[in-house]
Amino acid sequence: MAALKQTLKIAAGGLAALLAGRAVARALRTYDFRDRVVLVTGGSRGLGLVLARELVDRGARVAICARDTAELERAADDLRQRGGDVLTFPCDVTDRDAVFRMIGRIADHWGPLDVLINNAGIIQFAPLVTMTPADFDEAIKTHLDGPRNTIEAALPDMLRRGAGRIVNIASIGGRIAVPHLVPYCASKFALVGYSQGLRCELAQRGIVVTTICPGLMRTGSPRNATFKGRHREEYAWFKISDSLPILSMNAERAARKILRACERGDALVVLGVPAKLADVFYSLFPGLSADLYALAGRLLPAPGGIGTGRARDYESESTWSQSLLTRLTDRAAVQNNET
Ligand code: NDP
Repeated sequence: MAALKQTLKIAAGGLAALLAGRAVARALRTYDFRDRVVLVTGGSRGLGLVLARELVDRGARVAICARDTAELERAADDLRQRGGDVLTFPCDVTDRDAVFRMIGRIADHWGPLDVLINNAGIIQFAPLVTMTPADFDEAIKTHLDGPRNTIEAALPDMLRRGAGRIVNIASIGGRIAVPHLVPYCASKFALVGYSQGLRCELAQRGIVVTTICPGLMRTGSPRNATFKGRHREEYAWFKISDSLPILSMNAERAARKILRACERGDALVVLGVPAKLADVFYSLFPGLSADLYALAGRLLPAPGGIGTGRARDYESESTWSQSLLTRLTDRAAVQNNET
């Protein structure tokens, strides 16, 4: 009994020392965004735009990129109205040469990047049998090759200066695989592994890498996702889940938490209470957790409908997707340039 007490005391002492050490390390890593040069990929709408607004408000110089030029320009107007010093780049992050050119132009204009936020992402919501090799390629190219391109373009300057912050926006789908999002989850799992590996290797060179795994956030993004199979039902499921306040997090709150994690140099942050609970449950009971997701998959629409064809939001509206249940997502879509 005495030996057990002694062991517990030592363990508690060790844990307290570890937590104190982490608090000191966080305090030493604390960061101020004022006058920093920041690139937010996918900054034209949704979470990327909300992050860019928050950064502008904190005095950062913000560059944003996306593929749709009209959306980018609307986002730039929004940011400039807040007094932001903003650069926009029509750039597909999967195009390596274009990414290197963009990061070179930012450096010519403002100097090298201080902070890189890899946020650009796509959502394809459909049963596995309707997903094609092209869907998998697109997800991997966007979520893994995209961040690799931006990081490899920004890294030489960061290494030379021995400083820099990189934030990779992955997903809870990068820690737990869920039905009807298989290419998405596969690519986000890859991003989580890449991002955590980078952190281990770059810490000693003064570069801090943070991985963010959000649960559902009300960014308004169902408006820009793609749906297959019984696309109306798929869209309604996704949009309703995205709108429920218990399940999904307000985008502004998520953005503040992401920037806080970057300021503190946190390693990995799971955002949202449901995602945190699911993550802990999965870590404790991976088998049971996987079985429960398999059961949940039975509730989702069976294959059928348009099969491997793709549909967008406006082609997939139904009474459910336009009901009171989806009001919050519609509001977020208007606020965050998703329409
Ligand atoms: P949105 O669809 O609203 O925004 C995605 C942004 O990425 C757009 O600006 C889009 O612009 C850009 N983008 C997509 N592909 C590319 C590309 N190849 N090159 C450059 N830009 C690109 O999504 P959210 O704001 O909701 O999501 C932001 C991030 O958060 C994503 O990585 C997503 O996976 C992640 N996430 C979101 C969750 C949510 O519930 N919303 C939950 C968990 C994670 P364009 O199409 O014009 O290129």
